[in-house]
Amino acid sequence: MSGKKILIWYRHDLRIHDHEPMYEAIQAKAEVIPLYCFDGRQFATTGFGFPKTGAFRAKFLLESVADLRNSLQKLGSNLVIRQGLPEEIIPSLVQKLQIDAVYFQGEVTSEELAVEAALETALSQLQVPVTRFWGATLYHPDNLPFDAVQLPELFTNFRKQVEKKSTVETTFTTPQKLPKLPDIEVGELPSLVDLGLDLPEYDQRGVLQFQGGETAGKARLKHYFWQQNCLKDYKQTRNGMLGADYSSKFSPWLALGCLSPRCIYEQVQEYEEQRIKNDSTYWLVFELLWRDFFRFICEKHGKKIFRQSGLRGIRIPWKEDWERFQLWQEGNTGYPLVDANMRELAATGFMSNRGRQNVASFLTKNLGINWQMGAEWFESLLIDYDVCSNWGNWNYTAGVGNDARGFRYFNIPKQSKDYDPKGEYIRHWLPELTSLPGGKVHEPWKLSATEQKNFGVRLGVDYPHPVVDFFKSVQANEKIYEQASKI
Ligand SMILES: Cc1cc2nc3c(=O)[nH]c(=O)nc-3n(C[C@H](O)[C@H](O)[C@H](O)COP(=O)(O)OP(=O)(O)OC[C@H]3O[C@@H](n4cnc5c(N)ncnc54)[C@H](O)[C@@H]3O)c2cc1C
Repeated sequence: MSGKKILIWYRHDLRIHDHEPMYEAIQAKAEVIPLYCFDGRQFATTGFGFPKTGAFRAKFLLESVADLRNSLQKLGSNLVIRQGLPEEIIPSLVQKLQIDAVYFQGEVTSEELAVEAALETALSQLQVPVTRFWGATLYHPDNLPFDAVQLPELFTNFRKQVEKKSTVETTFTTPQKLPKLPDIEVGELPSLVDLGLDLPEYDQRGVLQFQGGETAGKARLKHYFWQQNCLKDYKQTRNGMLGADYSSKFSPWLALGCLSPRCIYEQVQEYEEQRIKNDSTYWLVFELLWRDFFRFICEKHGKKIFRQSGLRGIRIPWKEDWERFQLWQEGNTGYPLVDANMRELAATGFMSNRGRQNVASFLTKNLGINWQMGAEWFESLLIDYDVCSNWGNWNYTAGVGNDARGFRYFNIPKQSKDYDPKGEYIRHWLPELTSLPGGKVHEPWKLSATEQKNFGVRLGVDYPHPVVDFFKSVQANEKIYEQASKI
């Protein structure tokens, strides 16, 4: 022991594998004080009044923190848990325990950066140094072939350069043993009720019973790659919507840092050596690059990502139509693909990537509703909410991201037939349409009066009429978009 005491503030890095702050603290032969703070601001409401962290994610977070504590205990340490503001709790612990340095994984978006800044100010008054590590992405910024300010605005340019010129660092070794905590009250893990939330009911129809924590995240990785051997077909199955294994479902664990993207990358490499290397194994890494891209974009553009005019600064006169927004939220738009996905989200906190793209397109390109309302609704409900991936993707689907392709919309009736050809997904989430045979489930508005009677589905009674005409609404919103783009 060096006699040095280092506090590690855990945030979205709830793991013991590939954890640079812990690795460095051990290298320094320091006494380590791991800390997690439940910050009340994360459980307040969003600008439009939704719970900022809804029950699905809060439950997953509590499980993840509990799992981290358990892992640290097994190594001989523990996790100190507090409720309150990190910028107050940490300086007070620093004084009480005479801590020499504070390590944490840095974030890139405004709220998180404000907390970091407040903490650094408080600690500088105590003359205690802070070290900020980067651990959220597959590629480390030091290994990118450009500076953050020169980051390419288009994903393809980013990807091509990175794939050609950058390498992924190997993971940091997992500690085998940790020093005991100094004499300190470790603190209780709060309950959902303490956080002002109720236990969400588990819906059997969900794709997966998500369990928070590194242990469950690693088990999922093992299941998906090694036990079910799904990686070899990922590229063909990834656009599915039904079932546990059409895609990896790594996102909730990645979002809280229970899984490190570099660890996934190493497993992909091992899989390629031991089993097969193909388009699918490449594609999973390709998707992780999207995740990296949005984080670097957020770092580059600061608060712009949250503004209504988005990264491109297009001032579109979005509607704030709460009546229609509610139909979207509750899955009552009359478009089965949208409704099934929105009901899945509300019931489980998860939605496939295909679903997210379609419902976001419908909200913005058909209803013309302010995309920020959609982004905040996702923020509230998504179990895998990641500030960069969520706001970045919403920028893109709303057409205000730095995507050169302008007004693009998803042809939802077509998407429905292409990605749910037998209508199984729709029937899974919309019980009122189960009696509709074959392809009729995609476009119930086309049912004749006789068909409605025969199948027992009365439009406007059992299932809503479409809230808008699909193509007319697209045309109207395209006009608005084009007008706004000219200014
Ligand atoms: C409007 C909208 C909002 C979204 N919000 C989020 C969010 O808050 N958090 C989040 O993790 N993802 C978000 N995504 C991206 C994507 O939908 C999810 O990452 C994916 O559905 C998670 O399922 P999976 O882990 O099975 O993905 P897989 O298909 O197995 O992909 C593997 C991993 O690659 C990453 N990835 C895949 N697609 C994307 C993408 N388009 N953007 C960024 N990363 C991606 C994820 O980390 C994912 O876990 C959003 C997409 C849209 C269109």
